[in-house]
Amino acid sequence: MNKANNFEFQALPYSYDALEPFIDKLTLEIHYGKHHKAYFDNFINAIKDTEMESMNIKEIFRNISKYPMAVRNNSGGYFNHTFYWQNMKAHGSDLPTGKLSEAISKSFTSFEEFKKQFSDAGKTRFGSGWAWLSLDDKGNLFICSTPNQDNPLMDIAEKKGIPLLTMDVWEHAYYLKYRNKRPDYIDAFWNVVNWEEVAKRYENALKIFGL
Ligand code: MN
Repeated sequence: MNKANNFEFQALPYSYDALEPFIDKLTLEIHYGKHHKAYFDNFINAIKDTEMESMNIKEIFRNISKYPMAVRNNSGGYFNHTFYWQNMKAHGSDLPTGKLSEAISKSFTSFEEFKKQFSDAGKTRFGSGWAWLSLDDKGNLFICSTPNQDNPLMDIAEKKGIPLLTMDVWEHAYYLKYRNKRPDYIDAFWNVVNWEEVAKRYENALKIFGL
């Protein structure tokens, strides 16, 4: 058995032009086909013939401080992008519903305030990184940003939790269409959020923490 089969470069869950006009086709082609693919290939190379080949990605993240920087960067690059593709969809923008909607209002006072805080996390991330909405082990939602390809599942994260929603703020995520205007990309992002997926992740995260 090829242990590297633990890890799979998953198909994009929609066509390259599905997120137009908010995220353009060329950006998605290069972002998925070149950047994401390179992280995946480099990750598989970085764990070749190591104990990590038989681990799952979350175990690797829980121990990431023990491993070489190439593993940290490329495992994050592999996972974060899959997570980002799946929390977007064509014709997104419907508001969160049910339990998630209540939790967002409770934690951030309103959906608008949540959007503002999450957007600010992306806008103020210096250099390259990600904005996240996550659940901590007490059942509280929190917003943070991480540098490079780090994420809140990693043992080195400032605050750890189970991620629910992410937004890539590397220049490669927006530069072709939005040039230097990161805030315009962030505003557009809200039109393609897949809230059903985020709500599903929230329910799963509550179960994982036994809440
Ligand atoms: Mn990216």
